[in-house]
Amino acid sequence: MTHQPLEGTSRRSLLRRAALLTGAVGAATVPAVFAAQQASAATTVDMELTVIAAMVDPPRSGTGITLGAGPSVTAVEAALRDKGFLSSTYVDGHYGTSTISAYAAWQRSLGYSGLDANGLPGPTSLTELGEAEGFTVTRKINVGANNTSYGGKRVNTRTRNMLAAADAKLSWSITLTQGSYTPGNPDSAGTHDGGGVVDIAVGSLSTTQRWQTVKALRDVGFAAWLRTPAQGFSYHIHANAVGDTDMAGVAQRQVHDYFFGKNGLASHAADNTPSAYKGSFTWWEKVGRG
Ligand SMILES: [Zn+2]
Repeated sequence: MTHQPLEGTSRRSLLRRAALLTGAVGAATVPAVFAAQQASAATTVDMELTVIAAMVDPPRSGTGITLGAGPSVTAVEAALRDKGFLSSTYVDGHYGTSTISAYAAWQRSLGYSGLDANGLPGPTSLTELGEAEGFTVTRKINVGANNTSYGGKRVNTRTRNMLAAADAKLSWSITLTQGSYTPGNPDSAGTHDGGGVVDIAVGSLSTTQRWQTVKALRDVGFAAWLRTPAQGFSYHIHANAVGDTDMAGVAQRQVHDYFFGKNGLASHAADNTPSAYKGSFTWWEKVGRG
């Protein structure tokens, strides 16, 4: 099972964004003090949308907003600015590389390190930021214990529950060949270093069954793709649990690709999943609300 590394875009995106903002100074720019008043009016932060924006936004060129996350992200950014971690320039509702860095600094200030300081809001750090800066966190994501297992492979509780739900949609069993939290595996280019990422065996499945498995995984909130020999892999399904706050950076970039209909590989080519099995972008907590 091999995974090609994704090209690192963070620095380039940051520079491009800085250039765009420099060129945007003028009458249309909202004064920082007014933007701050707008931000403080938002008293709730939707954690689900904020985390998904934190996965989708950083590789973007420009400062687009993901789903309806703008007000929540702006409130988090305003709080990070007030804490001294983020320039007012970046309080814009776009959870870009500067916001990732600022949030990671906030996490480190709380004593977190490693995956717990990856710049994705976790339930504890986000709640603490809200208590300090005056917002309430709604729709919290909690990945649970990070040392449970599915079919003998290590995953967190949220991923285990998602796999069980996908398995229940199929008349065959989902079998993992690699779980999560497996740092140092050179074949996976870091995508499995954190939480939410699994590989699934498809060797005993027909072509149709493979695609049906991809669809079942997508329907419970995974970014899932069938990897093929034509792409340089032995056949398997690689799946990332959208919104998993323990996810490694390279795997987050794959969620960005999935959101935009791409394959999550270094080529960033179009998703080759047949349209009947593509499904639509969703995540576990949203699925649970029906
Ligand atoms: Zn994988």
